[in-house]
Amino acid sequence: MVEKVIIIGSGCAGLPAAIYTAREGFNPLLIAGSLPGGQLSLTTEVENYPGYEDGVMGPDLINKMRKQAERFGTRFLNEDVTSVDLKSKPFKVTAAGKTYETESLIIATGANAMLLGMESEQKFMGRGVSTCATCDATFYKNKNVIVVGGGDTAMEDSTFLTRFASSVTIIHRRDAFKASQIMQERALSNPKIKVMWNTVVEDILGDKKVSAVKLKNVTTGEAKEMPIDGVFIAIGYTPNTKIFKGQLPLDEKGYLVVKEDVLTEIPGVFVAGDVADHFYRQAVVAAGAGVKAALQAREYLSKLEYERDKAKK
Ligand SMILES: Cc1cc2nc3c(=O)[nH]c(=O)nc-3n(C[C@H](O)[C@H](O)[C@H](O)COP(=O)(O)OP(=O)(O)OC[C@H]3O[C@@H](n4cnc5c(N)ncnc54)[C@H](O)[C@@H]3O)c2cc1C
Repeated sequence: MVEKVIIIGSGCAGLPAAIYTAREGFNPLLIAGSLPGGQLSLTTEVENYPGYEDGVMGPDLINKMRKQAERFGTRFLNEDVTSVDLKSKPFKVTAAGKTYETESLIIATGANAMLLGMESEQKFMGRGVSTCATCDATFYKNKNVIVVGGGDTAMEDSTFLTRFASSVTIIHRRDAFKASQIMQERALSNPKIKVMWNTVVEDILGDKKVSAVKLKNVTTGEAKEMPIDGVFIAIGYTPNTKIFKGQLPLDEKGYLVVKEDVLTEIPGVFVAGDVADHFYRQAVVAAGAGVKAALQAREYLSKLEYERDKAKK
């Protein structure tokens, strides 16, 4: 059997793509991956998704999207895709040792924020630890926060956080930032921002939420505890594109390169969400891209059907 549409990824981009393609009668197969629900399933309160005036818990929002996709007939496969073959048609997608064929493919595999790698980070994610300043800065009005990192994102997040937090301390493991000069200048000239150079976070402490961090100066070896309300980790993202290497172009950071908007250079293969977006990284933007990909898939499939009918006559 050749599928009409396969969607890879069950986050904010993949699920809306499923809702649209399912409602249009394409009976999509969604391969959910090892993080069902995607990044929003890792967080607590989401205050900026339209339609929820009092905010909504990330997992609840994702659950509703999933139920909506199921209601219209989306089939879910809770596996990881291990390889794809986009060089021949129909496209081939392999998951759990089984190969599926499909006329169109929507890639919505997202990008994971890089973490420092300590257990306490996971424990306090959404409870004082965040990887998204745009999403969570407003929760830190008049609070003291740290930002870990030294690149452009760390500078931008720190500057943005000063609109809410009373103090922002950038924790950087080296004695110089790798951020662009202009971003550094903007951050360093802000009176609410200070920097602790040559310093690493060794642990995040607290009970139900973050209350302090354990820091270590890597040059002097001096360790100390610093009381803090929020920890923003801004050390980069890893786009989930390993399986597309050699099949689709990737940029120097590993993101999928689109030909235009949600279109790739392969007709019938569409891309949505954070896997091709290193700028917006927002749920509603990913959802919008998922819908665009679904509408493009519909257009592609109807052209294919028309051409097939014409060839038969
Ligand atoms: C802690 C946190 C808080 C956030 N808070 C907010 C917020 O308040 N507001 C907001 O707008 N945004 C927020 N964001 C950002 C938002 O979650 C993302 O922009 C959004 O989830 C991107 O959706 P996506 O579908 O592109 O990718 P993701 O949500 O990352 O989903 C990717 C999906 O692809 C799947 N996948 C990956 N590889 C494979 C594979 N090989 N095979 C099969 N499936 C695969 C994964 O299992 C996952 O289901 C937050 C992010 C984080 C991490």
